[in-house]
Amino acid sequence: MIYNNSQKAIANKIEETPNLRNWKDWKWQLKHSIRSIEQFEFLTGIKFEEKEKQDLVKTFDKFPLSITPYYLSLIDKNNYKNDPVFRQAFGGIEELITLDSELSDPLSEDKDSPTEGITHRYPDRVLFHVSNTCSMYCRFCTRKRKVGDVDFVPSKKQLLKGIEYIANTPQVRDVLLSGGDPFMLPDDMIDWLLTEIEKIPHVEIIRIGTRMPVVLPYRITDKLVAVLKKHQPLWINTHFNHPREITASAKEAIAKLADGGFPLGNQSVLLANVNDCPRIMKSLLHKLVQNRIRPYYLYQCDLSEGLSHFRTPIGKGIEIMESLIGHTSGFARPTYVIDAPGGGGKIPVMPNYIISWSTNKVILRNYEGVITSYKEPDNYEYKLCNRDCDNCNLELNLSEIDESDAIGIEGLLSDSNDTISLIPEDNERLLRRDENE
Ligand SMILES: *Cc1c(COP(=O)(O)O)cnc(C)c1O
Repeated sequence: MIYNNSQKAIANKIEETPNLRNWKDWKWQLKHSIRSIEQFEFLTGIKFEEKEKQDLVKTFDKFPLSITPYYLSLIDKNNYKNDPVFRQAFGGIEELITLDSELSDPLSEDKDSPTEGITHRYPDRVLFHVSNTCSMYCRFCTRKRKVGDVDFVPSKKQLLKGIEYIANTPQVRDVLLSGGDPFMLPDDMIDWLLTEIEKIPHVEIIRIGTRMPVVLPYRITDKLVAVLKKHQPLWINTHFNHPREITASAKEAIAKLADGGFPLGNQSVLLANVNDCPRIMKSLLHKLVQNRIRPYYLYQCDLSEGLSHFRTPIGKGIEIMESLIGHTSGFARPTYVIDAPGGGGKIPVMPNYIISWSTNKVILRNYEGVITSYKEPDNYEYKLCNRDCDNCNLELNLSEIDESDAIGIEGLLSDSNDTISLIPEDNERLLRRDENE
């Protein structure tokens, strides 16, 4: 099953005497990635009209094409225009449309970058871009601005800049390796990088975000798993968007990682005409948990340039969450998030379950539409928290105390922080007060 008819047909065209070993060699797959329209036509037998071709040339000039033979083999050639794999892998003229609301770097990742390769947005964790390239160029990439730009694997010297930043920033306890795809690095480089990060005493966990199990599952070799196993605790997040992507080869790759002992998560992007359907999403999530992957995030599609045809209203995401919460296993359901344009970070969004509230009762509704009330305790004793954990009966081990100050809304709620409101810096009313003083 690993080497099916569609794969055989493609392998036959790539090589005169193809063999199974080559097909499953990830470097062979990379070497034979499809990067031109002609190659795509030749390998799939799909033919574009002259006008279509001209549009595609323009599109790929701006946003290059690259598809692994494996991922190409998943395309349904007889109905490719509606095919979720084709849509994710092969672009069209729609990508050249840029709306006023779209930005090349919508999440301000470049602005929040204190040093090359690092995006430091949240207090205790950083995103570390350790590779500038991917095995496949997803058409909906939020970092579309960079795709195919300078297709390289950074040198140790370049990576050391990021490592140095992490070492010098004691609040960073969680390092998220991303890219590009970190698994584009050679095994010995991954080993070196993880070893260097692990040496930093304040780093508690490392995470890797990769799409390899989806677009090039053969990258998950026994050797790679053996390297990764030396570096626990290591969390791995994959990126499946559609149930069709969970193939026999993908399952094999996932099983290697799960057997390696890494907690596995999945991040999907909500994409119009790919997975914007509660039934497709539920089928995907069920397949993920059957394969020991815990769905983590469902992303609203970012406001990146050229993605308007992939975007859905937020209501579609809420509708999908409504179809999941209560209707299926709690651990099969991701958190739906919108990454705030401008770099505000991920904002979780859900249907509303609290309908009303009084001083001692909360009125809630469930997934079936049942409306219920929760009577709050009459004798809950309010305890002022002045952060004097030493004299608190909750017995927190003092060495485990988080010393960071309460931020934002957390600060408004905190007894030990005397902020009473959060006010925009350019609030006119307050500027007037300053002038009058
Ligand atoms: C998503 C993201 C993280 C990790 O966020 P979690 O919610 O902890 O998964 C860290 N840094 C940046 C810049 C991110 O975009």
